Amino acid sequence: MFFKDVIGQRQQLDYLIDSINSGRIAHAQIISGQAGYGGLTIALATASYIFCRQKSEDSCGSCPECYKTHSLQHPDFLLIFPVGSDSASSSDKLLSVDFMPEFRELVTETGGYFTFEDYKLKIGLEKKQAQIRVAEAESLLRTMSLSAFQGGWRVVVIYQPEKMNAETANKLLKLIEEPPLKTVFFLVTEQYGSVLPTIKSRCQLLRLPPLKMEDISSALQTRFGLSSEKSDEIAHLSRGNWCRAVQIKDNNEAMKEFHNQFVSLMRLCWKGNFVDIFDWANEASSLGREFLGRFADYSIQMLRDSYVQSLGESELNLSFGEDRAFIEKFAPFVNENTVEPLVNEFSMMKRDVLMNGNSSIVLSHFALTVSKIFSMNRKK
Ligand SMILES: [Zn+2]
Repeated sequence: MFFKDVIGQRQQLDYLIDSINSGRIAHAQIISGQAGYGGLTIALATASYIFCRQKSEDSCGSCPECYKTHSLQHPDFLLIFPVGSDSASSSDKLLSVDFMPEFRELVTETGGYFTFEDYKLKIGLEKKQAQIRVAEAESLLRTMSLSAFQGGWRVVVIYQPEKMNAETANKLLKLIEEPPLKTVFFLVTEQYGSVLPTIKSRCQLLRLPPLKMEDISSALQTRFGLSSEKSDEIAHLSRGNWCRAVQIKDNNEAMKEFHNQFVSLMRLCWKGNFVDIFDWANEASSLGREFLGRFADYSIQMLRDSYVQSLGESELNLSFGEDRAFIEKFAPFVNENTVEPLVNEFSMMKRDVLMNGNSSIVLSHFALTVSKIFSMNRKK
């Protein structure tokens, strides 16, 4: 990571750069703040900067040290994070290094901005106890008892130090208090309150504030090409948290796709042309089961909003934007005769798709039935 990969936090970066260049960097620091404030990215960028041989305002990205630190493969740049497995006995022996490929991939994909939920999913820890165990502390102590591989700096980044139990922490206390020369620790936490007091008392604290709205907005524009209106809107909702901003953006994109699918499906079913309906079913079957399940939920909400709108209760219609504009035209077709059968079809489609039915067959049957519901009610 480079400092230029960090969103905002200029004051904190200037402080770190200055402390390195003046040789006054604290030997152990806790970087504290929500995941979306950038703590891990800052720690990784600072580590690269420390190692870089041709640094200026940022690490150079082209010296041999940069080559290794930016790909997280430098032998003197150690990463420790909570791990776990199904059985307690094998968990005890697990080390972060066993999960390095997944961790590297996650950092590459997200630029270091990920939530603990994203992390657990990537490392495969959804239902397992994620911990930094004694074996990890012992391994680190062994490494630290040797001199640095490349004879220069050594940097240790501990992600989620609050996942250390007391036994692990006790083993590391002395090392963190008096590390070997040219050794720096960065402990990156989202829950400063849960870090053991014995660890906290040996570290300097760098507290990250929420990101500024304009920093999030401009990153949304440069990284994802969003318009300034859309970026400002998302930045406002993100409350200074980049991870939340990305989630809102992804959700917005999915909602747009749901809207387009719903509008074209309703038009096709209303027209009742079988060939077009089969074409739709074939194409939609490639969207994936998870998408189709969420699409069914979205559609049921659209039908409910259309029904209350058709009853003249427009204040109960909770949709907005282009969803609302469509519902205002579509509402007359969702009445007391059609609403229940339509909602039922979407619910059954969701159930059948998620039960691993052949999506293409499920969707053609579903769309034909929806079309029949419209045509039967047209005759009345
Ligand atoms: Zn460099």
